[in-house]
Amino acid sequence: MTQARPTFDGRAFIDGQRVDAASGARFDCISPVDGQVIAQVARCDAQDVDRAVVAARRAFDDRRWAGLAPRKRKETLIRFADLMVRERDALALTETLDMGKPLRNARSADVMGAQNCIRWYGEAIDKLYGEIAPTGDDALALITHEPIGVVAAIVPWNYPMLMTSWKIAPALAAGNSVILKPSEKSPLSALRMAELALEAGIPPGVFNVLPGYGHEAGEALAMHMDVDCIGFTGSTRIGKRIVECSGRSNLKRAWTELGGKSPNIVCADVADIDAAVEASIGSIFYNQGESCNAPSRLFVESSIRDDFLERALKLIPRYEPADPLDMSTTMGALVDDIQMRSVLGYIEAGKAEGAALIAGGEQARLESGGYYVRPTIFAGVRNDMKIAREEIFGPVLSVISFDDVNEAVRQANDTPYGLHAAIWTRDISKAHRIARALRAGTVHVNSYDEDDITVPFGGFKQSGNGRDKSLHAFEKYMEVKTTWVRL
Ligand code: NAD
Repeated sequence: MTQARPTFDGRAFIDGQRVDAASGARFDCISPVDGQVIAQVARCDAQDVDRAVVAARRAFDDRRWAGLAPRKRKETLIRFADLMVRERDALALTETLDMGKPLRNARSADVMGAQNCIRWYGEAIDKLYGEIAPTGDDALALITHEPIGVVAAIVPWNYPMLMTSWKIAPALAAGNSVILKPSEKSPLSALRMAELALEAGIPPGVFNVLPGYGHEAGEALAMHMDVDCIGFTGSTRIGKRIVECSGRSNLKRAWTELGGKSPNIVCADVADIDAAVEASIGSIFYNQGESCNAPSRLFVESSIRDDFLERALKLIPRYEPADPLDMSTTMGALVDDIQMRSVLGYIEAGKAEGAALIAGGEQARLESGGYYVRPTIFAGVRNDMKIAREEIFGPVLSVISFDDVNEAVRQANDTPYGLHAAIWTRDISKAHRIARALRAGTVHVNSYDEDDITVPFGGFKQSGNGRDKSLHAFEKYMEVKTTWVRL
């Protein structure tokens, strides 16, 4: 470790205050950078969920936030974003120590992306209008949007601050009260964000953070009869559980943003092969491969396969795992020992099924005490192999070659997931035809890493049902109301 380690307050944040779990239970927060304990975190359970829901409901019902003019909520959210910029270094360090990503990415992409998201929804909320239906002269039908009430948000560990902001920013801007449960693997930055929200002027009870385990705090939120809506980001397995809990409790609105196994198709007529190699390799190994939309299945046309892989292998040294706190590092630590063992298990499965390991395939930096895996590429993969079917969520690329692009598209779609996809070709008609045929929430043409808060993010099929980001995210956190007035 090259920097002095800060201390962290792992207590929950309920009704504007830091509190221990009602049971007094805590769990160790372990840094994947070196395997050391960095904080004791409140292990919230159903009792704490009840406390937070009561506080959130009270705050919603007395309209201390929902009743403010949108312009006022805007000003407060912009102050919140400004405070995140003020705390940029500390928030980035928290994120890196908590989940292992390179500090330079935490600083540039995570903190700045999260504050930009909060700012953007703040800016948007006083620019939304209702509608008047074309009903005729004898009546007036108003169509308005209202906050839903108490929104629970459950998020994963791969982009803790970003995923938090994607949920809370539209939900808060719309006037809801929010209870966020961060992942037990990365709870610290969200807890600090709650303090900054209060400092910015978001009233007590409006934004609460409950750290804890999924089967305890998470499930209690999903089952709660007084939570009106749940925004979930995480695995497809738990997403199904969330929807089930909604059905077994109060039919709370259940929005899911889930896993992926995204196909990236490179045709022989690609205009710029180096750009395709850079984007393909950069996107699968960014964030240690722990990205829901990572292009983990590379379909490459046989005639350019060897050339493509030769160029790809030249980039591999850039992604050698190194100290995440060093600002030159591009590949940090996997989030924990369990995730590392899972990734190494997939690598063994790939070898056992006969795929050709052409890069990586092993643990690195064992002396650090942390959890590091070398960037790994398998060539000669078939789409029915385990490493092509299942989400590995680590730095592992499966390369599948093809001769007929229609067959590549068929295989690209032959997955339960539908988050992202890409097609690389210089033929504009082919690009459009294939973009239409790919069953994914986002399709990239001659790129992979385009991103902006203005565009929706979410999946087809078992990659989920909701959309984060863009104005569409408001649809998840607002009810549509019709008011008939007889004239
Ligand atoms: P996970 O499903 O294990 O956990 C996600 C969250 O759900 C955590 O906070 C966890 O504590 C909670 N949880 C677990 N069990 C629960 C239960 N029974 N009831 C309620 N909550 C419960 O996922 P993860 O390992 O944290 O994250 C990785 C997954 O997230 C990957 O599949 C990835 O693709 C996905 N992801 C999707 C997106 C997207 O926008 N589509 C973005 C980021 C990550």
